[in-house]
Amino acid sequence: MELLDDTRRLAVYTAYNTNVDAIVYLQGETVQRLIDELGAENVRRRMEEYPRQIEEPIDFVARLVHALKTGKPMAVPLVNEELHSWFDSRFDYDLERMGGQAGIIANLLANLDFSRVIVYTPHLAKKQAEMFVKKPNLFYPVVEGDKLTLKHPWEAYREEDPIKVNRIFEFRAGTTFKLGNETITVPFSGRFIVSARFESIRIYTEEGLKKFLPVIGEKVDGAILSGYQGIKLRYSDGKDANYYLKQAKEDIMLLKRHDNLKIHLEFASIQNRELRKKVIYNLFPLVDSVGMDEAEIAHVLNALGYSKLADRIFTYNRIEDTVLGGKILVDEMNLEVLQIHTIYYIMYITHSDNPLTEKELTQSLELATTLAASRASLGEITSPEDIKVGMNVPYNERGEYVKLRFEEAKRKLRTREYKVVIIPTRLVKNPVSTVGLGDTISAGAFTSYLAMLRKKGEL
Ligand code: AMP
Repeated sequence: MELLDDTRRLAVYTAYNTNVDAIVYLQGETVQRLIDELGAENVRRRMEEYPRQIEEPIDFVARLVHALKTGKPMAVPLVNEELHSWFDSRFDYDLERMGGQAGIIANLLANLDFSRVIVYTPHLAKKQAEMFVKKPNLFYPVVEGDKLTLKHPWEAYREEDPIKVNRIFEFRAGTTFKLGNETITVPFSGRFIVSARFESIRIYTEEGLKKFLPVIGEKVDGAILSGYQGIKLRYSDGKDANYYLKQAKEDIMLLKRHDNLKIHLEFASIQNRELRKKVIYNLFPLVDSVGMDEAEIAHVLNALGYSKLADRIFTYNRIEDTVLGGKILVDEMNLEVLQIHTIYYIMYITHSDNPLTEKELTQSLELATTLAASRASLGEITSPEDIKVGMNVPYNERGEYVKLRFEEAKRKLRTREYKVVIIPTRLVKNPVSTVGLGDTISAGAFTSYLAMLRKKGEL
């Protein structure tokens, strides 16, 4: 694919969030052992209390058994760092892989043979570093003797760094175990995620590196920033979200200092409305491009005060409402480009003076969905050749309907001051994995957008 070849010539910086996803395919005997160890009665009692976070092993077992009983996928934060060793002594992980948007995107772009990928994550323990692919185009910035050097993450880890491990317990329908004299059979397949939320994991650029951000900015054509959902409102050392958002703003300005590089912010859902609002108001106006999925656009509009429109998107999921919401966001935050991905379609909204034509914008989205389809089919993209797999995945069957509704929406809404393009997604029926598909879409869309800008002399 020609566009992919142009895109791969770019150099990209990506930060901040990485973690290790440790996956356990859960067996009935394993659950039984945990219940026997902690006592069925204790587990039952704690289940009734329904702990919101995991502070001790019994909280975990109670929420796990609850998830298994209902068959509902759930995620519960683990707040006690000391439980790492408890988990590690009780479970053998079937698979460990890169998690976190920055990590996933860095591996993807490195595997696609981009000319250079610089990834920064504030915590790089050995195990975290090992989750990066062994590619010569992948670098981690290190400051040595007041000089910036670029090393492969495997050569740059720090033994004492904290590590964020998200444990993912995949369970299958039909798995059986006993809770006292009650026999439980899991009704649906799903997964239970124990997500690490530690005080020690923060989203920032370490002091020594910060002053080199303008240098890094000069070395790349674009930056993809993500992970702001990991900021907490308050920390026990007195720091708060405002502190970290101020740092985040400084980082963006430093990256842009000597160069007109473009910055994409990948927005992930933020439960807390206050934090969500802070991220939007502080950071959106500073970046060029924002990507998000359909649930998030409604949350964002809600945070900006458009609650009726947000409710309509939640309830009816109509394309015209998403277009309207997108226009509002592009205008109020003065974005160069907004990309929204949903299960059935992907959309770009820009102002009408965007240097790319609607046809070019469409090509960029095509590349994005094709890459996602490759990843969904293969589990991981390991070389540029893998894009061929995605090209053989058909557009989803609602594609034509989507286009029809979109044309209707365009007629209804005033879109003259904007460019709005939409494509149906290539949807894989039985994906090997759905982890990182949204990140793949956003990385593919933003980088191919940059490649086309560059070809036109606009970058
Ligand atoms: P996110 O919600 O950010 O994780 O993004 C998920 C996106 O990945 C969706 O909006 C779809 O566009 C895409 N996607 C989800 N499932 C599949 C699939 N089975 N095959 C191809 N693309 C998919």
